[in-house]
Amino acid sequence: MIPVQGFENQRVAVLGLGRSGLATARALQAGGAIPICWDDSAEARAAAEVEGFACEDLGRDQCWEGVAALITSPGIPHLYPEPNRHIAKAWEMGVPVDNDIGLFFRSLATRDWDDFDNAPRVIAVTGSNGKSTTSALIHHILTVAGKSAQLAGNIGRGVLDIDPPQDGAIVVLELSSYQTDLARALTPDIAVFTNLSPDHLDRHHGMGGYFAAKRRLFAEGGPDRAVIGVDEDEGRYLCNQISQGGADDRVIRVSTEQKLAGSGWSVVARKGFLSEMRKGRQIGSIDLRPMKGLPGAHNHQNACCAYAACRALGVAPRLIEQAFASFEGLPHRSQIVAEIAGVTYVNDSKATNVDSAEKALQAFKNIRWIAGGLGKDGGIESLAGALPSVRKAYLIGFSARDFALQLGETPYEISETMAQAVASAAREAEAGDTVLLAPAAASFDQFPNFEKRGDAFVAAVQALKT
Ligand code: ADP
Repeated sequence: MIPVQGFENQRVAVLGLGRSGLATARALQAGGAIPICWDDSAEARAAAEVEGFACEDLGRDQCWEGVAALITSPGIPHLYPEPNRHIAKAWEMGVPVDNDIGLFFRSLATRDWDDFDNAPRVIAVTGSNGKSTTSALIHHILTVAGKSAQLAGNIGRGVLDIDPPQDGAIVVLELSSYQTDLARALTPDIAVFTNLSPDHLDRHHGMGGYFAAKRRLFAEGGPDRAVIGVDEDEGRYLCNQISQGGADDRVIRVSTEQKLAGSGWSVVARKGFLSEMRKGRQIGSIDLRPMKGLPGAHNHQNACCAYAACRALGVAPRLIEQAFASFEGLPHRSQIVAEIAGVTYVNDSKATNVDSAEKALQAFKNIRWIAGGLGKDGGIESLAGALPSVRKAYLIGFSARDFALQLGETPYEISETMAQAVASAAREAEAGDTVLLAPAAASFDQFPNFEKRGDAFVAAVQALKT
């Protein structure tokens, strides 16, 4: 645990008592603060009280007396579509609002660091897609390279839950836009921006607010190194703002779409080959095509980002290549779960929107596509360009019939359930085909979450073997 510094003997309000809220209360207490907890759900309050934390109704004015800060959870809107009433109250009372990420950055460095040869470093990863994969891949590379590394944030442990990093250790953080938007301290040594596409626009009041939230990670005087995906205008703009000129190697540019001009530091993947350029010369290259855990151009983008972050720490290209080869991918993200009679089965249950489903469809050929669930606005209209690689669609869930209407010439069946979809796809598949779960829809009509949906797919695939 990272005990929170700077609030000794002061009352600190904690709003939202989920996983990160409770971890925050514990870390505050460990640092000598007095956490005052609140959650509108009685069940969540009961869980905090079981641990001995005092719950006080933040709706009452008296409760705010002497409160030094309000620490809020990422799921609670702090500004749009409208501010949570307790957060608005904190503004009114002049109480600073922060989150666990802000507390983490202000509390990480301790007196022990004075005796370290190499101060611990933090790599923070943000972007619309690929954050989890990139963070997990960086962590895997560092582990293969023999470094002490911990993975935290949106993936792995809560930030305040990690062990205090030791001499030369590295902390890899996955940060969402909700987290970067609110944190009062954001000082990673290396910051990574994978890409940008519309998401969570209600919480950020549109694309400008969403980008502004992510950009905070790169604020002036920010990271020593910035790894930035430049395949969108926002990435190119950010890069230009940070860099002092073409040869400034504080910025490492990443692309999977274009050769990058200039003499700066860049990592590019094209046609399955990654190459690292510095001062106009190629200084590293890796063939990504045999890497089973990193299929498709979207994963090549993640690979470039992870490569760049690890090169900024001085890891050798050959070690990174070795780590790519042993990376198994994350569950539910373009994950190859079986090969049966020449047919590959891929679980991309995390493809809950059309953007990520499109990337998955582009990553494979001869696809038997399992899609559907609770479709989003526009259904699968925008996937038309990716459909030629689909041999047949097997549609499940609430939006199955709507999706069928948008498939054009692509053959389909309404399978209704996951078990039926897998059974039909397996029966009809020929050697060389890929049965791909990439639903382009939320899971909540048939499953509690995307993980359970992916698990159901894997279970149905495993059942084929018996
Ligand atoms: P995040 O943590 O940002 O949600 P994940 O690594 O969990 O990212 O991947 C989420 C979804 O997006 C998955 O369906 C995955 O296959 C897809 N994806 C992964 N990396 C990328 C990328 N670089 N660009 C676009 N889509 C991606």
